[in-house]
Amino acid sequence: MKRSKKKGKLTVIAGPMFSGKTGKLVAMVEVFTRMGYKVLTVKPSIDNRYGAKSEIHSHDNKRSKAIIVDGQKPATIVESILSSGANKVILDEVQFFDKRKIIDVALKLKAAGIHVIAAGLLYDYQRKPFGATPDLLGLADERLELFAICQRCGSLARHTERLKGGKGQVVVGAADKYIAVCESDHKIYR
Ligand code: ADP
Ligand code: MG
Repeated sequence: MKRSKKKGKLTVIAGPMFSGKTGKLVAMVEVFTRMGYKVLTVKPSIDNRYGAKSEIHSHDNKRSKAIIVDGQKPATIVESILSSGANKVILDEVQFFDKRKIIDVALKLKAAGIHVIAAGLLYDYQRKPFGATPDLLGLADERLELFAICQRCGSLARHTERLKGGKGQVVVGAADKYIAVCESDHKIYR
């Protein structure tokens, strides 16, 4: 099959929790792999929701192998990615990486001809910009905003509401601590 020329690209998938970001990534890994691309998936170590396993894992139990990296040191993987011959690099939970460093990593990989696909939360539980996601969205060649379903009214949800777990910006959890809600139903946990 004829493929387009080697060219770096940044695709950003943004949306609240439960909007299908990880599920979409798992589907992309499957299709790209079937097409013969070499795909590497990376996620920050702070996301230990599924027992720190080396995989990304969606809320509906779709999973795919991943390399786990210290979110404060994402640059440590650039060399090994470049020498691996990967064509596609997937970054999940991109908001948990150091903001400046992960932008740098994404742009470096893109400059080296890699298609980088980054997925993350645009907003935190206070509806404030979350980590690198908004900036990456601005830098992206392709953008995809996903929505979940508001658990209060059934309309499209673009926010994540915290139900418990304290007030830090980063509190790792799933349906035990968070729900997806629309803008007008969103309450800031206090
Ligand atoms: P994300 O990575 O964006 O958090 P996932 O791909 O892990 O999303 O999970 C998406 C899945 O979450 C959906 O396919 C659905 O089964 C489930 N889900 C749970 N709550 C909701 C909700 N409020 N809206 C949409 N999907 C939900
Ligand atoms: Mg996810």
